[in-house]
Amino acid sequence: MLLNRSERSFPRVIIIGGGFGGVEVARSLKEKEVEVLLIDRNNFHTFQPLMYQVATGTLAADAISFPIRKMFKSQQNFRFRMADVTEIDHVQKIVKTSVGDYDYDYLVIATGATSNFFGNNQVEKYALPMKSIHEALNIRSYVLQNLEEAVLRKNYHDRERFLNFVVVGGGPTGVELSGAIAEIQLHMLKKDYPELSKNEMKVYLVEGTGKILAALSEKSSQDAERYLRDLGVNVLLNAQVTGYDGNTITFSNGESIPTKTVIWGAGVMGQFPTGIRPEIIQRGNRIQTDGQCRVSGMENVYAIGDVAAMITEDTPRGLPGVAPAAQQQGAYVAKHILKQMDNQQTADFKYFDKGSMATIGRNKAVVDMGRFHMKGFLAWLTWMFVHLVSIFGFRNKLVTFVNWTIKFFTKNSGIRLIINKYKRPEVEKETEVEHHS
Ligand SMILES: Cc1cc2nc3c(=O)[nH]c(=O)nc-3n(C[C@H](O)[C@H](O)[C@H](O)COP(=O)(O)OP(=O)(O)OC[C@H]3O[C@@H](n4cnc5c(N)ncnc54)[C@H](O)[C@@H]3O)c2cc1C
Repeated sequence: MLLNRSERSFPRVIIIGGGFGGVEVARSLKEKEVEVLLIDRNNFHTFQPLMYQVATGTLAADAISFPIRKMFKSQQNFRFRMADVTEIDHVQKIVKTSVGDYDYDYLVIATGATSNFFGNNQVEKYALPMKSIHEALNIRSYVLQNLEEAVLRKNYHDRERFLNFVVVGGGPTGVELSGAIAEIQLHMLKKDYPELSKNEMKVYLVEGTGKILAALSEKSSQDAERYLRDLGVNVLLNAQVTGYDGNTITFSNGESIPTKTVIWGAGVMGQFPTGIRPEIIQRGNRIQTDGQCRVSGMENVYAIGDVAAMITEDTPRGLPGVAPAAQQQGAYVAKHILKQMDNQQTADFKYFDKGSMATIGRNKAVVDMGRFHMKGFLAWLTWMFVHLVSIFGFRNKLVTFVNWTIKFFTKNSGIRLIINKYKRPEVEKETEVEHHS
């Protein structure tokens, strides 16, 4: 049982969210004179950068997920509750959750982001997002379900929309995902589905601006586009999605693609419980903080990672929504809390940009580190090393490495299983097509 405020010998730090930021706060408070209570709706941490490999069958879900309790098994001052946090009461210093209320002395909001459909309800209804492991598994099932449906259709006209795969958003998620789906077309389709022709399956990457990987250098953007085109991905630039009725996706230039599969990687927005004052909610639904990660007007409350907008003179648009930013803020906030307890001042947070990278297909990548740029196989080896080092747990590192090695030599994604069939909302006007066995 957890003790009440008056009964505790140490202050309690509640962390909402066991993602990159939240986990780093908890770790950095190991052996300190505080009680750490981490609350997450899942009992595991997800390594989101490799989620696209779960969606395309290279890795199993448990290779990139790690049980939170196991992660902290040797940390004496750590407690965990699996719960949805619904409300923050910063006056009473309480968080309300699906399993009860908990009082805090310090609160860290590290609830991350969710998909942003920019108010297009129709697209939201039918497109598949990829912001959680459940959603990645939905994509895996649905891609395979559509291939199964395609073999039942007699002529290409009827099969076409089951064989067109559209990924929206030319950031790292869209680039990596479309490259991996193209690999399925190149190396798996003919072997597993002899009824289908390789040329019938088409992969599209749709980007609203004039280039993909806009946050990376010009060189990386161009190299990535070339690699994708070499893999057979149709890269559509300056194409804004206007609608998707479950059968056809339409664009602002009047063009359209018949498709059953639209995967949405075009935008994210912060997610957090109620109790945050509306006037401090910034663009992208993020909580504004000062240069020390503190939420203004809420005593002893911090926000870090994707949910936070640290808007300062140096960072007028906030920090990038990447794992290193969340982790660095997590370590910083832990130190800040300890100094606060000792009535000491802390200098403002400084983000150290370690660089950016994206992988394309089975063995190519682009990497930017400052002014240094790398591409191709060497960049892919760097990408692989960085990700292997970053995944939590020895078992997960080993399983991932073995899977990648097998895939490198066999060109095969091993996990082609539809375990839970994905049930998409009913399409309003479904055209009947003739089946053959
Ligand atoms: C597909 C994909 C690929 C990416 N690739 C890269 C990459 O290659 N490199 C990179 O640096 N970054 C990448 N990112 C971004 C990176 O994953 C995020 O920046 C990072 O996860 C942010 O960490 P966080 O701690 O803020 O939030 P998250 O890691 O998202 O964690 C938030 C946690 O809060 C929990 N939560 C949310 N709301 C509640 C609630 N109300 N109650 C209880 N629990 C709650 C969630 O369950 C989750 O565990 C990628 C993201 C995605 C989606």
